[in-house]
Amino acid sequence: MPEGHTIHRLARQFNDVFGNARLTASSPQGRFADGAARIDGQILTGAQAHGKQLFAAFESGVILRVHLGLYGAWDFGGDETFRGASSIGAPRRVGERELGSEEVSYTGPPEPIGAVRLRLVSAHGWADLRGPSACEVLTPTEAAAIRAKLGPDPLNAARSDDGAVEFLQRIRSSARPVAVLLMDQNIVAGIGNVYRAELLFRNRIDPMLSGKQLSVEQVSMLWADAVVLLEEGVAKGRIITTELANRDRPDDVHYVYRRTGLACLICGEAVFGKELAGRNLFYCPGCQCQVRHLPD
Ligand SMILES: [Zn+2]
Repeated sequence: MPEGHTIHRLARQFNDVFGNARLTASSPQGRFADGAARIDGQILTGAQAHGKQLFAAFESGVILRVHLGLYGAWDFGGDETFRGASSIGAPRRVGERELGSEEVSYTGPPEPIGAVRLRLVSAHGWADLRGPSACEVLTPTEAAAIRAKLGPDPLNAARSDDGAVEFLQRIRSSARPVAVLLMDQNIVAGIGNVYRAELLFRNRIDPMLSGKQLSVEQVSMLWADAVVLLEEGVAKGRIITTELANRDRPDDVHYVYRRTGLACLICGEAVFGKELAGRNLFYCPGCQCQVRHLPD
């Protein structure tokens, strides 16, 4: 599933290629025909990400909310103003087209292929949405209610203290393991399985400690590191969490994520993997668990 940095990149792309443009909206697949009709012909005034969800506002005030979930993806194409835009979301199936440099002039969107839930078209290009877990048109009140339930997003709150304070309160008031809390979008929005494992490793925190057991300093470090890592993810378009000096090989881009049984890049002990709340959790017992390794 795309983590928050991907959706922030998507919001930027929306603002770049569709910001202040009048769009036609349709649902070639038909499942979103009513929703598409509510935004058809309107100017897109701005797109914002909150965690893993995209909120795109239109001139009448209504807001398009899209959650890609596990399988959703956007594909883009168009003239030179769409250069660099291709697809965001789940990896595309082989054979789907991307706008290549060989395409000399833009003559309009292609025939929709497959189950396109929503197609947006401007004078310069198009975007197709397939397979989202949520796609709906909301009033501003409805959108605000959804966002109020979400935890703070390290990428939205990075420049104010509000996010850090809210994160601290939400984490430290819970008896659930911190590894579960970091995946709960109502605690903090935008962190998925990769960032969860890597944040806990980088801050040497035992994933099974409860929120209440963490110190203020530990939670503050987690938040500050989430801001750094997610901002890098937005800049690079991928998740890289290892410091250059810690890599045995150039492709050691994670410390523990999907490294079960491999030697920890820091202490050499085997990285551990286990299922927690239905998702795979990765951690290094040597670096993170004081029960087995007492601190010096
Ligand atoms: Zn280790």
